[in-house]
Amino acid sequence: MTVYENIYSLFAGRFPSDQRAPFIETSAGGHYSYADLERESARYARFLTGLGLQPGDRVAVQIEKSPAAVFLYLGCLRAGLIYLPLNPAYRAAEIEYYLDDAAPGAVVCRPSDLSGMRELAGPRGLKHVYTLDADGQGTLTGESRSLGDEFDTRRVSPDATAVLLYTSGTTGRPKGAMLTHGNLAANALALHQAWGWRPDDVLLHALPLFHIHGLFVACHCVLLNGTKMILLPKFDVPAIMRLLPKATVFMGVPTFYTRLLADPAFGRDVCGHMRLFVSGSAPLLPQTFDEFQQRTGHTILERYGMTETGMNTSNPLDGPRRPGTVGKPLPGVSVRIVNDKDRPLQIGAVGQLQVKGDGVFKGYWRMPQKTAEDFTSDGYFRTGDLARLDGDGYVSIVGRAKDLIITGGLNVYPKEIEACIEKLDGVVESAVIGAPHSDFGEAVVAVVVRAPGREDVTEAGLLTALKRLIAGYKVPKRVFFVPELPRNTMGKVQKNLLRERYATLSE
Ligand code: AMP
Repeated sequence: MTVYENIYSLFAGRFPSDQRAPFIETSAGGHYSYADLERESARYARFLTGLGLQPGDRVAVQIEKSPAAVFLYLGCLRAGLIYLPLNPAYRAAEIEYYLDDAAPGAVVCRPSDLSGMRELAGPRGLKHVYTLDADGQGTLTGESRSLGDEFDTRRVSPDATAVLLYTSGTTGRPKGAMLTHGNLAANALALHQAWGWRPDDVLLHALPLFHIHGLFVACHCVLLNGTKMILLPKFDVPAIMRLLPKATVFMGVPTFYTRLLADPAFGRDVCGHMRLFVSGSAPLLPQTFDEFQQRTGHTILERYGMTETGMNTSNPLDGPRRPGTVGKPLPGVSVRIVNDKDRPLQIGAVGQLQVKGDGVFKGYWRMPQKTAEDFTSDGYFRTGDLARLDGDGYVSIVGRAKDLIITGGLNVYPKEIEACIEKLDGVVESAVIGAPHSDFGEAVVAVVVRAPGREDVTEAGLLTALKRLIAGYKVPKRVFFVPELPRNTMGKVQKNLLRERYATLSE
């Protein structure tokens, strides 16, 4: 493995020599230079280390997307602290799990969540709870303002964990993927090269910052390039239409592209200045790929990756970008398609996709057993995706061995939702499935068996109860009631039958 001491030092080595050069522009007109980045991240690094946090301690962060959120992430990297981003949509019951599992040394939350967060933190002996709002204000900024704005980025081993990113599993119990400084550096360099970043590139950033796509793929390419990104608080069609003419690179989940195409004003004029559109996190339908090409003249570049591995494959920058495929392995990544016994299959055969490379994580936080199960004896990671390789080396993802719904680019694990539904009064059991949805790609749909005589349990009632327990994107779009769930002879719920039955009913 190539050695990078701290991924921040790798970035800093590529910052523009004139640090007054722009790093972030916001849609509200804010401007932040590379000098601001160095100063703000230094202040956060100083403040957090001043609390007594040691390298390897976790900092859990549940805040809105903002320039300050980017600086806080970079401050944690500089201090050798492990950054743990949490989706702002998570509710208290979900946060409790992460606090227990990751045992962070400090938490940063939105000001409006402070009292709730303190209630969760207190009993866990977690003293350090600070706030940061979307404008970069809060106790974290307030208390670090008087500190110096220089910090010697800590030397860390490339094998040191930089970020703990949780991904749920088929068990419904989220697992913390430990991504090291070396993993993140290897992947960032591969993408920067593969996508041919240019000195005048400007990224329009509309993805969330708590996920690999927005935090690593998007931000790391910009940091390695030493250029500017326009940071949007969230995906918003009018803002994208207004700002695309100022950008050259855009990254999105397929839902972004279908929403842009749904606006009749979206087309060649808006995209004239663009160099590259990238899609990932969920399958891009060939019809979206085609329609985008017709309307804009641009060919979307689809890539494939996952939290545990970083990006694995990409369609080429120069050369054919094939719809329905995720391209070829990136430099430094080995990909193979195998059968149940880990034996490689012939070209064209569908099997389990396994990957190996410097970007692949070092394991699940405090789950050595699960980590061991997910790697083969020769060091390949079992992605859980089903795929096919063609004669030219292009990979197509054809399904998922694991039971996962991807809705608007966000992952929902049915087991977690089923467990929540089954705890509700009047419910016997449930099966949660993904149904095709024109906007979200897939929609979460619940099929529920009520207790005898409990016709008072309604779709509206269940949805109201679920909204209090889980993040909005996980709440089913529809709930259907059945007398019993279809099962096979082994007693397993036949979700394939449910998917067929409810295929057209999610909207
Ligand atoms: P996450 O860890 O949230 O990034 O989700 C990773 C999963 O998203 C992968 O294991 C795939 O199932 C899916 N995924 C990511 N990119 C693509 C893509 N381009 N096409 C199909 N599925 C994808």
